[in-house]
Amino acid sequence: MACGHTVLMRLVASAYAVAQKAGMIVRRVIAEGDLGIVEKTCATDLQTKADRLVQMSICSSLARKFPKLTIIGEEDLPPEEVDQELIEDGQWEEILKQPCPSQYSAIKEEDLVVWVDPLDGTKEYTEGLLDNVTVLIGIAYEGKAIAGVINQPYYNYQAGPDAVLGRTIWGVLGLGAFGFQLKEVPAGKHIITTTRSHSNQLVMDCVTAMNPDDVLRVGGAGNKIIQLIEGKASAYVFASPGCKKWDTCAPEVILHAVGGKLTDIHGNALQYNKEVKHMNSAGVLATLRNYDYYASRVPQSVKNALVP
Ligand code: AMP
Ligand code: MG
Ligand code: MG
Repeated sequence: MACGHTVLMRLVASAYAVAQKAGMIVRRVIAEGDLGIVEKTCATDLQTKADRLVQMSICSSLARKFPKLTIIGEEDLPPEEVDQELIEDGQWEEILKQPCPSQYSAIKEEDLVVWVDPLDGTKEYTEGLLDNVTVLIGIAYEGKAIAGVINQPYYNYQAGPDAVLGRTIWGVLGLGAFGFQLKEVPAGKHIITTTRSHSNQLVMDCVTAMNPDDVLRVGGAGNKIIQLIEGKASAYVFASPGCKKWDTCAPEVILHAVGGKLTDIHGNALQYNKEVKHMNSAGVLATLRNYDYYASRVPQSVKNALVP
């Protein structure tokens, strides 16, 4: 029953179920073979049928259960009746067994802002780089990202037919992050993960200044944060505008819940209140450990070019 649980934990438990359904929709659209690709601002800024259906599914499902929430989704969609088949009403009971951190126990529905990226890594999705793709549901309170759910629909897709496809990671500040095995990059190694589809001179200058042992160029903000928490990369460096609040909200929570740090390229915390501009104009710098090493290496010329 809903009573007895806090609004925040009920919302996270519902977001988990909604994100799992989203993952199924992402897989179904590929299986049906018609991606329905639309260019938004340019050829590297795309929307597919999966982005559209998943956003409708997530936003409508959460709004039905939590009508006073503010929900901000990436895609601009015309208002239309949402097919009942897209609605997810369930909640993940395991989450309801967890205690709500006391500082969040009195939060009201109307105080929460939900940032939704229905499909992060769309460019890679259209190119068949399926494990780059995530579904992101971030929850903010008083401008701060405090809870998040990430579904990775094609987790394990290269691991053979017996592997379980897809997974869901979730976290709440003060409680922890769950659904993965925390791992660190070997000490002393500087492995940078950055964009593969949205690079430019500033991005490259900043990565080079980190003196990296290796550079991974992959799609998706969610995917890159998963690389940090699973010991595949030591820093996510993106010295460019382009990434938005729905890209960073849920991933930031997962990273912060395990002791990492995500900021803009100047070291400023990101704000997630509903009035904030969507663009992370001053880029993204995120690490699980040794944040100060990477922050100290951002060139002044890069900082000067990126105004928050
Ligand atoms: P990436 O690392 O290139 O996958 O980018 C992470 C997120 O930011 C994705 O959702 C991208 O769509 C978005 N993004 C980054 N740069 C741009 C850009 N120049 N135009 C549109 N979206 C961008
Ligand atoms: Mg995205
Ligand atoms: Mg997206």
